[in-house]
Amino acid sequence: MSAAQDEGMSANAPVAIVTGAADGIGWATAQCLAQQDWRVALLDLRAEAALARAAELGPGHLGLGCDVTDSNAVHAAVSAVLAQWGRIDGLVNNAGIGDQSVPTLQQTVDGFDRVLAVHLRGQFLMSQAVAGVLLAQAADARGQRGAIVNIASIAALGGIPARNAYSAAKAGVVGMTRAMAMEWARQGLRVNAVAPGYVATALVAELAGKGAIDGAAIARRTPLGRMAEPAEIAQAIVFLLSPAASYITGSVLPVDGGWSALG
Ligand code: NDP
Repeated sequence: MSAAQDEGMSANAPVAIVTGAADGIGWATAQCLAQQDWRVALLDLRAEAALARAAELGPGHLGLGCDVTDSNAVHAAVSAVLAQWGRIDGLVNNAGIGDQSVPTLQQTVDGFDRVLAVHLRGQFLMSQAVAGVLLAQAADARGQRGAIVNIASIAALGGIPARNAYSAAKAGVVGMTRAMAMEWARQGLRVNAVAPGYVATALVAELAGKGAIDGAAIARRTPLGRMAEPAEIAQAIVFLLSPAASYITGSVLPVDGGWSALG
């Protein structure tokens, strides 16, 4: 665990935590936040990868190893962010795993539990730990106390074969997002979800490599005719995290090239 230097960053710059930030959508989100003058704590299972990505962003960012399924690791990471900057303004619950496409009759209980743990328990643990900080901080002039953005999926909105655990976890993310949003709205803490369609990341490459998905078929099924780039998801996440989204809470924003609108 170590920090990049704070040189060059404004002491007033808002602070965001992004989980699973070493790769894919999380890394694109960290880059987008840094471009918009946020200080970013990049959390990932692989500490070295998180540190390397923080260094890549430049001075003023933090890389930390953190398994989001481990309550102790989550609390240690949140404490490290507070020790570094003394405040937190936003959380992006993004960490995810690729081994999630298994026909229901072949699904093992351990496999099911693992997918639920990373995608649902992880978001719960991180949200609980960070919300405790956000709610204790002073509200801004408009009564706002920051925001949480959870990464769901189109798998939560429609049926996808052989994705039982993943669909259950992401549907759980949608339910948890709305429940937390209602719980904390009066205290000015906003909670929203982004539901991406298929995005060209390592996770999707792994599924394609196993023959679990067919990139050409996905492009044909998607109204915009292609998969998303990670940066296209990141921009929606950063919008929901930012004060520009000050009147949005409890929402689930599909960023899916029209996939869910097609029905
Ligand atoms: P990637 O595999 O590219 O990146 C996920 C990152 O999360 C990796 O760096 C991974 O580390 C890390 N990670 C995995 N498990 C943990 C853990 N327990 N604690 C902390 N970090 C962890 O995935 P994507 O960018 O594609 O996906 C990001 C999110 O977006 C996921 O929640 C996914 O379900 C969701 N999503 C993705 C879609 C897509 O098409 N790509 C579509 C819809 C939703 P490591 O590499 O070491 O495993």
